[in-house]
Amino acid sequence: MRLLVVEDEEDLAEGLRVGLARTGYAVDVAGDTAQAYERLTVNEYDLMLLDINLPDGDGFTLCRALRNGEVDTPGDTDLRVLMLTARSGLDDRVRGLDGGADDYLVKPFHLAELLARVRALLRRDISGSTAVLTVGDLTLDTARHTAALAGEPLALTPKEFGVLEYLMTRPGHVVSSEELLEHVWDANADPFTQTVRVTVGTLRRKLGDGRIETVVGRGYRLSA
Ligand code: CA
Repeated sequence: MRLLVVEDEEDLAEGLRVGLARTGYAVDVAGDTAQAYERLTVNEYDLMLLDINLPDGDGFTLCRALRNGEVDTPGDTDLRVLMLTARSGLDDRVRGLDGGADDYLVKPFHLAELLARVRALLRRDISGSTAVLTVGDLTLDTARHTAALAGEPLALTPKEFGVLEYLMTRPGHVVSSEELLEHVWDANADPFTQTVRVTVGTLRRKLGDGRIETVVGRGYRLSA
């Protein structure tokens, strides 16, 4: 899953980037609304963490513009928005939710709480209320960050985990390399490397034969 952090406090932005990346998310950071607009038009995000007070504008306006279709985003992903606010006033919460935010978190917050909110928002359209994805005898626990095959734990790298999570939300569907690169890697990934192919290859070996099928010219498919 790919996240955009829009936050001008550099220490907080970096802390969020590191904390989220360690959990396996691909994370990009924007320090103001101009950078945020630019990122949003180039990359396909699953979730945006959005600060309200930014040097060149505010998060409310950005969120409303996004929801009104004024931002030309690639793809058709339903982007979740989690507002980060230093203000705890009811007005701001209501204004944020009315403006199209999916949830909000009042600063200061613990990283563990932020991660729980992020997981809850990301799985809303995936598998209802459970943090565990299941496809056949494959299970993936998005909260504990563990995966198992026929009950046996799988040792996966963060990128392998990210690829498997993305494929498990779309079993039986063909997912292109570009889509995986968009959702599992951050903006520092070189689109011309073989990184997706290599990661799918090592993941496929760990899962065993026939689970991840290559659909020539189109991408990869996890058997349903
Ligand atoms: Ca701020």
